[in-house]
Amino acid sequence: MAKKTYLKLSSPVQYIKGVGPKRSLYFRRIGVETVNDLLFLVPRRYIDYSDILKIKNLKINDEATVIGKIQLVELQKIKNRLKLTKVRLTDDSGSINLKWFNRPDLIKKLKVGDWLIISGKISFFHGGQFVNPLYEIISEEEITKKTHGSIIPVYPLTEGLGLWDIKRAVRISLDECLVEIQETLPQSLIKKHSLMTLSEALRNLHLPVKIEKAVAARRRLVYDEFFFFELMLAKRKMKAMNETGIPLNEKGRLTQKFVETLPFKLTRGQIEVIKSIVSDMGRPRPMNRLLQGDVGSGKTVVALYAMLVSVENDYQAVLMAPTEILAEQHYSVLSKILKKLNVKSLLLTSSIKGSERQETIQKIQSGEAHVIFGTHALIEEEILFNKLGLAVVDEQHRFGVMQRAALVNKGINPDFLVLSATPIPRTIALTLYGDLDISMLREKPPSRGEVVTKIINDKNKVTTFEFVKQELSKGRQAFVICPIIEKSETLELKSVNEVYKEIVNAFPEYSVGIIHGRLKTSERMNIMNEFRRGNLNILVATTVIEVGVDIPNASVMLIEHPERFGLAQLHQLRGRIGRGTQKSYCFLFLNRYVPPETFERISFFEKNNDGFALAQKDIQLRGPGEILGKRQHGLPDIKIGDLENDKDLLFLARDDAFELVKKDPEISSSEYYVIQKKLTKLATKEQLLRIG
Ligand code: ADP
Ligand code: MG
Repeated sequence: MAKKTYLKLSSPVQYIKGVGPKRSLYFRRIGVETVNDLLFLVPRRYIDYSDILKIKNLKINDEATVIGKIQLVELQKIKNRLKLTKVRLTDDSGSINLKWFNRPDLIKKLKVGDWLIISGKISFFHGGQFVNPLYEIISEEEITKKTHGSIIPVYPLTEGLGLWDIKRAVRISLDECLVEIQETLPQSLIKKHSLMTLSEALRNLHLPVKIEKAVAARRRLVYDEFFFFELMLAKRKMKAMNETGIPLNEKGRLTQKFVETLPFKLTRGQIEVIKSIVSDMGRPRPMNRLLQGDVGSGKTVVALYAMLVSVENDYQAVLMAPTEILAEQHYSVLSKILKKLNVKSLLLTSSIKGSERQETIQKIQSGEAHVIFGTHALIEEEILFNKLGLAVVDEQHRFGVMQRAALVNKGINPDFLVLSATPIPRTIALTLYGDLDISMLREKPPSRGEVVTKIINDKNKVTTFEFVKQELSKGRQAFVICPIIEKSETLELKSVNEVYKEIVNAFPEYSVGIIHGRLKTSERMNIMNEFRRGNLNILVATTVIEVGVDIPNASVMLIEHPERFGLAQLHQLRGRIGRGTQKSYCFLFLNRYVPPETFERISFFEKNNDGFALAQKDIQLRGPGEILGKRQHGLPDIKIGDLENDKDLLFLARDDAFELVKKDPEISSSEYYVIQKKLTKLATKEQLLRIG
């Protein structure tokens, strides 16, 4: 007799009956590796069978769901290069037309004879029809074997994996492994918020008898996720509060002179932010502060001010930037200011080698250098500081948590300031960065020129180039940005070199430079300096100039393949212009078919210039995990919760977590045993991630 093998939560999904090694690869594509992952796979939505109508009973303007079989699929070209996918759907009562605009991809997905569930609004056009409805392809089996309840969960789909495959695997996993699930929340919290238990929630997530049950199940899982996230933050904050730091008090000797030498007046926002930073630095515990401000809001001046406070107290200060170009810019611009104040500064990047490197390292260690700029090169073990008072991380989202910690560890509990140009709404920031104090720079310096953004297609490229020439003839400069393209996909996409040639041809009377990551540092610095001095009119670049680069005279940015960039990235890129008083222009060259979501993203960007609005949209589109960077923050993932729609739960979870840590810092009471167990698990996972 064959030995029966038991399925465990930790078993790879391939051991679930009916899955096997080949299908398990498809599961992996939707992020499911183990039975446990599958149980936590949250349906995208639910379809209620009791809502399903017969086609012949549909009425114009109804929001309705129908099930039918595909009789016909065709793709039509209509005016404006618009493509229309048309489907005829039939059930036992009649037929109806479905139409999708600009979804040529559907022609490959929808096949005659397939069963479809369609939801949407019926509009009128020679009788009723669905325009751009939601659809799911389902199997015959799914329709006939309506064995459990009338609610169908709709899972994230991927090629090769049907709804039915997922449902069957989920059902087997629930039957065999739900008993293994252990509760993670104490009774007190479950009661307080009338939550489902964890196993109740998982069952109702997949097999709800009513929609309300599915909603309650999701609520429990979201709360759980937020709670552990906040708990880790609360613990971190508690730990930091008990640390002794260096009280660094402003003397004014350098800071006052610094403010006087600036060619502009600090904005009210900058003054306020500086005030809170300075008072924080004066306290005998280490500062842990996040400074958020939109691109171009003037964070660098604030950081330099704080660095000078440290120097006034005979402590060193360091600023780490994510790219060499940015570190080099900080050094070349700021070292001049510092020199006037008699403050010795230095630059360290991995391109600085040999004897120059040795000398630099030595000056950092001896304390001869007071202010140090650099990249990741600063956190190498070999680099020792004499007396570090303040560590600053610019563009913090580009660094991992370990890298930021490594910089702080160059001193003995120094003050720590991180700068971020990916601003998120204050309430959410307070919650996600609950272990940090937060300062916000809301306003930009005055008299900044407006930035106009426009999507351009091939037809209008020539006129756009003419327009750019007018700008250049006024002495302005332009960036042309091209995404980094892998060799394997070059067919449809333009590489930097191709774009460079095109620009050289189109602008024969202007000098054009090119910059990308494969150039040597000296060449790169050279080109940036030439551009800064105005000897180059146009700079064709990859995303190496994405963050921080500050050339106030540049007023035009052309972006090739904007579809390849996320919102935050586009906003950072556009942040390179509009830094002077002149009006600036950002043109997005969009020439290929892009899916509707992508088009929506680019159009949103075209219409919005506010970093906060963009960040909020980005959170909606990509989820917070993506934005915060999974490994970056070293905290548990937020996969299910939605920072916007589940805000209330997030705030509840935060209050509960912080209250609990205040009451029982070690979380050692027996009531919290289940929490401890989960924390241990999370810590092990974190360690494995770090090693792996
Ligand atoms: P970011 O916040 O993106 O790092 P920067 O610190 O690079 O912005 O500042 C952008 C530009 O604004 C720089 O050229 C800087 O000199 C200038 N700037 C900063 N503060 C002011 C101010 N108060 N008034 C006018 N210009 C300012
Ligand atoms: Mg900056």
